Amino acid sequence: MENKKELRTWLDNFGLEHPLVIAGPCSAETEEQVLKIAHQLKDSDATVLRAGIWKPRTRPGNFEGVGALGLKWLQKAKEETGMLITTEVANANHVDLALEHDVDILWIGARTTVSPFIVQEIADALEGTDKPVLIKNPVNPDLSLWLGAVERFYTAGIKNLGVIHRGFSTYEKTRYRNNPEWQLPIDLQNRFPDLPLILDPSHIAGRRDIIFDLCQTGLDLNYDGLMVETHFDPDNAWSDAAQQITPSTLIQFMDDLKIRKETDATAEFRNRINTLRTQIDVIDHQLIEMMGKRMTVADDIGTLKKEHNVAVLQTKRWNEILGKMILQGEEKNLSEEFILRVFKAIHQESINHQEEIINH
Ligand code: PEP
Ligand code: MN
Repeated sequence: MENKKELRTWLDNFGLEHPLVIAGPCSAETEEQVLKIAHQLKDSDATVLRAGIWKPRTRPGNFEGVGALGLKWLQKAKEETGMLITTEVANANHVDLALEHDVDILWIGARTTVSPFIVQEIADALEGTDKPVLIKNPVNPDLSLWLGAVERFYTAGIKNLGVIHRGFSTYEKTRYRNNPEWQLPIDLQNRFPDLPLILDPSHIAGRRDIIFDLCQTGLDLNYDGLMVETHFDPDNAWSDAAQQITPSTLIQFMDDLKIRKETDATAEFRNRINTLRTQIDVIDHQLIEMMGKRMTVADDIGTLKKEHNVAVLQTKRWNEILGKMILQGEEKNLSEEFILRVFKAIHQESINHQEEIINH
């Protein structure tokens, strides 16, 4: 699938001056709950109301969603507020029911994107419709699975597509419920620049105190929209209570967030950014030159080790280098995590070179 301009037409047709905002509860709970939240969001920047009807839960026994009944509540909310409505579909039957109830946008959950069988089933069920479909990233950080799901829909003739970044599972607990791995959606966007990219800060955060900062990061990275879980009584929500915010908090956030422009046409901006970018290009060039030089020295060490039959990996020496680099990095405001990543990569490349020398 090459990049296709048509991919974002549906979003441009909304004619929004700001990013697309999708808001609403994690789950539809009762008719009153859905309607109350919709009315509280009615005059906000949120143009699309979300609510899960069929809830894929990690462990059985949690609230599994109200089922098709909730579609009627969403339809009623749409009639009363004029908001568009969206829900998650996880099989062909859900698709049929959602289409019958005029759901405007469908989304594919993270646990569905991992399964090409189900993705194909849903794509087939949508054939011939022009429903926008938003594809959440798979739970695991695998770009091909995410791309594959986009391609399956595209190949089935569903051209009104978008993706939702909701973070990735990790075994080790971090400050996030789902680690953002910002590079992954950026890589996806490099492949398909016209595919609308929406941030779901709620499922990344898992807690409400960092939702604002995540939204700002999304806007700084030029995301096309936000999907934020919103409930009038977050603490008593039937699912994902810790991460929901109230509609009035969302309205305040939208006021406080700085929405960045994609670019600025003024000559002053363009001159300055071009100068700065030239500096970056020069530095990147120097970095490659320096790494090349470092590798030549590593090769010489490899030859010497070979002559003297010495092991490639010298753990003590390596730990000393790392310790020094971390300290030096700190002085330059570079995080330990970054220094470790860079030097581990450089070290690995040196080991590969030396292995090659010693074994040939
Ligand atoms: C949701 O949006 O409520 C949901 C279940 O999301 P995810 O598929 O990202 O876990
Ligand atoms: Mn949720």
